[in-house]
Amino acid sequence: MIPVEVMRQAQQEFLDWNGMGVSVMEISHRSKEFKVIAEESKQDCRELLNISDDYEILFLHGGARSQFAMIPMNLMGDNKKAAYMQTGIWSELAVKEASRYCQPDIVVHGDATHYRSIPEPKAWGDFSNAAYLYYVDNETVHGIEFPYVPDSGDVPLVCDMSSNIMSRLVDVSKFGLIFACAQKNLGQAGITLVIIRKDLLKRKKMPFTPSMFDYALQAENDSMLNTSPTYSWYMLGLVLKWLKKQGGLTAMAERNNRKAKKLYDFIDQHDFYSNPVEKAFRSRMNVVFNLADKTLEERFLKEAKAAGMMGLEGHRYVGGMRASIYNAMPEEGVDMLIDFMKTFSERAA
Ligand code: PMP
Repeated sequence: MIPVEVMRQAQQEFLDWNGMGVSVMEISHRSKEFKVIAEESKQDCRELLNISDDYEILFLHGGARSQFAMIPMNLMGDNKKAAYMQTGIWSELAVKEASRYCQPDIVVHGDATHYRSIPEPKAWGDFSNAAYLYYVDNETVHGIEFPYVPDSGDVPLVCDMSSNIMSRLVDVSKFGLIFACAQKNLGQAGITLVIIRKDLLKRKKMPFTPSMFDYALQAENDSMLNTSPTYSWYMLGLVLKWLKKQGGLTAMAERNNRKAKKLYDFIDQHDFYSNPVEKAFRSRMNVVFNLADKTLEERFLKEAKAAGMMGLEGHRYVGGMRASIYNAMPEEGVDMLIDFMKTFSERAA
């Protein structure tokens, strides 16, 4: 979802942005007017996440998956090894892509638990010689989330926050690099946020790294090496201002905790539904659940859709159900789902 207020503002400004008599999607990314959007979105990110000047903020094309390649290309330097925590499908895919460019060493295997929990730090393999330690803060498909920031010592910590960025405050100074596609919590697809510690920009790149994939070159060019996805950037800018208006990330975290707790409490109290994830690792963004009687799934989805609730089917890899309750999902949306789940279980029992 995108916040309704943001959509309304975009609608109002669609034909005439900033009194210019044209749409924001019609103006040049290099115009002084667009540069205000670019500058303010950077500044708003800094404010929302308390990002210091030691970090560069980039807005890139290519979605989160391009980062799976950009990270090894830019960060391996002369090292051969990169360490990966494999805690779900998105980290699996990152490992697979990285293996085209380096030797990814899987130091944490979530596999043994079928991605229902995250092994405790004392069970992790040694990553002290790796170029970086990579993990996914929220595994969107399995609905599992790190309840803490892993301690990576001196090894730069690299994090895919695609599906929970700006849902809570994190201490950015613990990270070497954070990235997130926009289409979950920051607006619409087409733009990807990258927060990178400036010293990492100096690492030796792989010689074949495309210019568009070169973080340092993108930083030197204010993320405008080529034509930027201006409309996605504009929408992201509006979402950041909306987040500030909500009271910032502390307020968002409180709201997200409340929403998730309500839904998990309901699931736990009803045998008709179940959630497979170990409690400490349950995602606040993606609540996966199963019906005790699998044959009712299709009817559940059909009736939910008729009641105005879309997108509740689980990811094709895992099946079952999934309620994605990102930042923009209001609390009433969660209440509505719980009401529906309650009456459905009564009707179908
Ligand atoms: N990482 C995570 C955690 C995701 O949830 C997704 C998208 N669902 C991606 C990466 C891939 O994002 P994109 O489609 O922008 O490449």
